[in-house]
Amino acid sequence: MNATTPKVYGWCPGALRPMMSGDGLVVRVRAPLGRLTPDQARGVARLSQEFGSGLLDISARANLQMRGIREEAHDALIAGLRDLGLIDPDAQAEARRNVLLAPFWSEGDETHAIATDLSAALTAATDLFLPGKFGFAVDCDEAPVLQDTAADIRIERSCEALILRADGAETGKPVTRETAVSEALALVRWFLEQGGAPEGRGRMHRLIARRAPPPAHVAPWVKASFTAEPGPVSAGTLAALEFGQMPAATLAKLADYGAIRLTPWRALLVEGADSLPPLPGLILDARDPRLQVIACTGAPGCLQALSPTRDLARSLAKQLPAGTTVHVSGCAKGCACPAPAPLTLTATGQDEFSLIRHGTAADQPLKTRLSAAALRASPELLKEGS
Ligand code: SF4
Repeated sequence: MNATTPKVYGWCPGALRPMMSGDGLVVRVRAPLGRLTPDQARGVARLSQEFGSGLLDISARANLQMRGIREEAHDALIAGLRDLGLIDPDAQAEARRNVLLAPFWSEGDETHAIATDLSAALTAATDLFLPGKFGFAVDCDEAPVLQDTAADIRIERSCEALILRADGAETGKPVTRETAVSEALALVRWFLEQGGAPEGRGRMHRLIARRAPPPAHVAPWVKASFTAEPGPVSAGTLAALEFGQMPAATLAKLADYGAIRLTPWRALLVEGADSLPPLPGLILDARDPRLQVIACTGAPGCLQALSPTRDLARSLAKQLPAGTTVHVSGCAKGCACPAPAPLTLTATGQDEFSLIRHGTAADQPLKTRLSAAALRASPELLKEGS
């Protein structure tokens, strides 16, 4: 491993198992069913301001991440979060209950009912030892919206029926609202029995690349794509967040408009709201050029970052042609965008970036040693064929 090789932790921070970063502890709150009541949202905002930097992120698995928490304040923070009903019985239960549900659910529909039962079953499954990032997606609306979001086991609608699908497989097993949870747990046990997690690490799609899903997984699956855009939706109004981050004061203000649903798209949904006011960190217009740039925390907030990322991303956003997306990554790990992007700038040193086309942050670069100043002065460097 050289100085520019990022460290892979193999687990995600939780509230009870936080991770140290460059700006203090990262405490990730796994809100039940990805939803904060207005009182919970105001409470989280207050705790973030009292014990942390007052900055909140939404993770790619729709969790709320409190940044800059002082180490000595962690116990008091957990007590505050517990009072708000946002803490699991223990760190293992918190890690197991990694359930993402399509955020456009209505109370009592299949997505809501199955995600509720699955969360309870995972909390109770104390004999289940899952790899750190192992997660579930419940996506039962007519048009699936989570297929491009990372998950290991999926319960989704395909050809008008519900299926259970191992991530990476192109077929699934027919299930019903009543059988979906027990079948999902059976698929977890199959994954473990098949050696999917040697030494406690592993993902379903890697196992499926080596062997076929279980024999009963023969129901057809149809690939669907979805792009989230800010604006009114069936359950309220969707607001994107610049780089998936907002000041705590913005969350507190949004709570005046309704309960908050967290989404995996660097956006949140305010239940029942017809419109939202402009607030720091919010993007309310689908044409906002900041939606064309993706950037991780970068330096100094991340200990592994080789350079700052967000100022560069902000200035490039104003110069990009419509439809072009740029991912600026503080190191080759590419946390903010694990999938290939049309253009990626990966930091390789302080104010030094490599340019990768149609690849991930770790892929072979087309150009190297580009400074932020050179990129700002000559955005044509990012154009095809330049
Ligand atoms: S990609 Fe960004 S956030 Fe992730 S480890 Fe590297 S610098 Fe940190």
